[in-house]
Amino acid sequence: MEEKYRDVLKVPVAKRTREILRAFKLRASHRLGQNFLIDQSVVEDIVAAAEIEPGEKVLEIGPGIGSLTSGLLEAGAKVTAVELDKKLPAVLSETLRGYDDFTLVSGDILKVDLDEIMGNGSYKVVANLPYYITTPILLTLLERALPITKIVTMIQKEVAERIVAKPGGKDYGAVTLAFNYYTTAKIYREVAPSSFYPAPEVTSAVLVANVLDNPSVKVKDEKLLFKLIRGAFNQRRKTLLNALKGAGFPKDETTSALQRAEIDANRRGETLSLFEFARLADLL
Ligand code: SAM
Repeated sequence: MEEKYRDVLKVPVAKRTREILRAFKLRASHRLGQNFLIDQSVVEDIVAAAEIEPGEKVLEIGPGIGSLTSGLLEAGAKVTAVELDKKLPAVLSETLRGYDDFTLVSGDILKVDLDEIMGNGSYKVVANLPYYITTPILLTLLERALPITKIVTMIQKEVAERIVAKPGGKDYGAVTLAFNYYTTAKIYREVAPSSFYPAPEVTSAVLVANVLDNPSVKVKDEKLLFKLIRGAFNQRRKTLLNALKGAGFPKDETTSALQRAEIDANRRGETLSLFEFARLADLL
């Protein structure tokens, strides 16, 4: 296996991915969202977007067989990667052989103690995310007050568009506002299905989110702000007042707070900016 494998490493990444899977008798798991990157130019773009300084700590989520990981390590990052698939450590110990600055943690990114595995100091997150849990992963990273400075992720284009959406459209929602609150985010580039093996059914995008030192708006009660946002979007076709009533906010109190915040109760949640939600939260 090892001799054969060494030859495999010499071939281009697209063919190499298929050959590695074959050599280790593996199949990409649909259940685990495994769409491996097979386009070196995309790996290079993700690494460039992450603006890695040599020696900098990076958390990678789902290293797969290590295609993006090796790009990060080549740029000088110290990578700690969390991978759920128990079959992949054996592959990674071959594909990343010779790199000292790589630590693999076996487990679920939603369950591991990130403070414990990342140690002291700030770090960046770089990942080609498993699409079946993109939003829970991103919200966990944002809401846990972790010392993350930048998040560079490959996600579905549709999700990326929701994150950078402006008020007023169907894409604008709770996830947009969470990113507006904690980060400044932009789409770095789109990525075609043919850049992955197996090819996903959707177009992807690389999202770059710079985490702010302090949230973009000041509120008295952060939990209430996000309860309000969730309430406004849970029934997004309803007017703000009715949606909030449905979410358990008392009608009279909400009507009065909307008046004092100078927000028309007949507007829909999707038309409110983060600043308006913050103003309303402080008056409730
Ligand atoms: N980084 C690799 C690449 O770019 O080729 C693989 C990316 S693939 C889209 C997603 C990876 O996340 C897979 O390796 C999958 O096994 C892993 N994964 C899925 N669910 C996970 C979870 N809950 N925690 C950690 N890793 C997970």
